Amino acid sequence: MSENLIGNEIEAYCGKCKSDTLHLVTAVDGIRIEKVLCKICLSYHKYRAPGSGSARAKQKKTSTVRKKRSKSAKKAAEIMNLDPTNAIDYQMSLNYDIDAKINHKIFGLGIVKNIIDSQKIEVIFSDRDRILVQNYKS
Ligand SMILES: [Zn+2]
Repeated sequence: MSENLIGNEIEAYCGKCKSDTLHLVTAVDGIRIEKVLCKICLSYHKYRAPGSGSARAKQKKTSTVRKKRSKSAKKAAEIMNLDPTNAIDYQMSLNYDIDAKINHKIFGLGIVKNIIDSQKIEVIFSDRDRILVQNYKS
């Protein structure tokens, strides 16, 4: 049964590609996959489960996340630094301009980043961007 694994396409971690790629199984030990051939870089190596990666790959992943975090943290800081006294209390019925500072009773301070259409605006809040309604007529 284990023999059938040989030649199968599986997802595995490739140290050369430094990511999870498609591999061909080339050697098995019982039910354990021993060696695989990366279909991307064509290198033979020991099987490593997808996502397991090396410490290096993990570091890479972490730093990407960190980068993203610091970027949004910077944005968040920018929003935190807004003078709340200048912000307009958000109301669906109002009409907003780009860069308008708004104060939302749930999400807090935000900056209008984009006018999507006459009734929708995209607002940057300290945690994430949100689409809000404008010019709403009840
Ligand atoms: Zn590879």
